[in-house]
Amino acid sequence: MTARVFDASLYRYGELEPSYWEATVERPSVARLGRDETAEVAIIGGGFTGLSCALHLARDHGIGSVVLDAGEPGWGASGRNGGLVCIPPAKASIPELVSRWGRDETARFYRWAIDGCELARTLPAAEGFDVRAQGDGNLEVADHPARLAGLIEHARHLAELTGVPVRTLDRAGFAAVGHGGTEQFGGVHLGVGFALHPLAYALGLLEAAVRRGVRVYGRSPVVAWERDRGGHRLVTADGAAVRARQVVVATNGWTPDGLHPGFDARVLPAISNILVTRPLTADELAAESWNTETGVVNARTLLFYYRLLPDRRLLFGARGDTTGSPDAAGRVQAWMHRRLGELFPSWAGVGVDYRWRGLVAMSRKLVPSIGTLADEPGVHYAFGFHAAGVAAAPMAGKTLADAIALGDAGDRIPAVLRGLPPRFPVSGLRRLALAGAYLWYGACDRLQELRNRTD
Ligand SMILES: Cc1cc2nc3c(=O)[nH]c(=O)nc-3n(C[C@H](O)[C@H](O)[C@H](O)COP(=O)(O)OP(=O)(O)OC[C@H]3O[C@@H](n4cnc5c(N)ncnc54)[C@H](O)[C@@H]3O)c2cc1C
Repeated sequence: MTARVFDASLYRYGELEPSYWEATVERPSVARLGRDETAEVAIIGGGFTGLSCALHLARDHGIGSVVLDAGEPGWGASGRNGGLVCIPPAKASIPELVSRWGRDETARFYRWAIDGCELARTLPAAEGFDVRAQGDGNLEVADHPARLAGLIEHARHLAELTGVPVRTLDRAGFAAVGHGGTEQFGGVHLGVGFALHPLAYALGLLEAAVRRGVRVYGRSPVVAWERDRGGHRLVTADGAAVRARQVVVATNGWTPDGLHPGFDARVLPAISNILVTRPLTADELAAESWNTETGVVNARTLLFYYRLLPDRRLLFGARGDTTGSPDAAGRVQAWMHRRLGELFPSWAGVGVDYRWRGLVAMSRKLVPSIGTLADEPGVHYAFGFHAAGVAAAPMAGKTLADAIALGDAGDRIPAVLRGLPPRFPVSGLRRLALAGAYLWYGACDRLQELRNRTD
């Protein structure tokens, strides 16, 4: 029996999310697991992590696997995110990471994350699929003059640690390469990453994995995990099972408690929402000095992220509610629509053609977790991308594939990433903890808004 954190509407595995991404790709047909199968590795979760792990196991190490997803492949966050290929997949600052892990290991973690951005370019090129790349690097914008110093400091730390080129932009400079609007007080350009079509990335990984002999099944949720002749037997909802010597857990924000005790209460899922407007005209874009296809993140504590899509629609993302009910989602999406118009006044009330949501995964480690259970050496995992998994999750799948095939001789997985996060002390209170954090961060942002008006 498995337990979920949010309202049942977030776990309708049989339905595809009504996203812009689903509307702009053709999905291949993928079978359910209809009969028992055997594999060296069984992978639970067919998102970026699971599909990349399967592809790299097969392509680089000749190890066969079966991937099981509760929905269609890419059904989870991988097929519904903002498509910003960005770093870091962490909720801790560079100085915080350095004080915990030391400078060398922090640099190694960042290099790994930057390699994830590179992988999002090189893997599609090598495997012959198109992720519809846009933009150049990533922009971070100060929503208030007081926030610019923090952005510049972060950019400086990043440049010193990694050598990534960064550029500081005043308000006019930001408008020249980015956009205008009421919450643009300059910012920084980070010369790493870009933007892509996330579902095209996930389905490209799927196709490449299948071409290498990986067996991928959709609508096949694992509902029971049995030990069997020294290995594992994963039973799906229809009763068919996969028997494997090793298992990879790649379920991230959808990791259910009760699947395996090793993972209970390790993840704090949080909802993220996206709106996509109707196509904007060239005049409408000019009215907000919009000049970029590069992804933008603003510096609010509860941030907004946005980008212009190839057909000139604006994708606008923000955090979600803390219950997951359809009513609560409707209220958050209405709030986002209003806020979009406040940030970009000439687009107030603009038509919205797509709205959807999904789950990201936080953890008490504040960085992703990759590794193998200490007391069960055939069980591996990679999760906790802190809402920045477009670069990191496929990279985690690759890293895990290498570790499974070659062994983690202590250093294949960067130390910052290695090992499980601590559990949340009272699993059932995770939603409440999230609500408390949002209240606090929301109050900080509102205080800043008040200051904006009085300054
Ligand atoms: C709205 C939104 C916007 C985002 N924007 C960005 C962004 O712009 N940039 C960025 O870097 N990151 C972003 N992210 C985060 C990013 O999408 C994730 O970090 C990444 O996709 C995680 O990949 P994954 O494969 O680990 O997990 P997922 O893609 O979530 O895959 C997990 C899979 O596990 C399956 N599963 C769960 N339980 C079972 C079971 N019992 N049996 C079988 N299968 C199961 C689910 O069906 C799901 O498909 C965003 C996320 C969301 C939700």
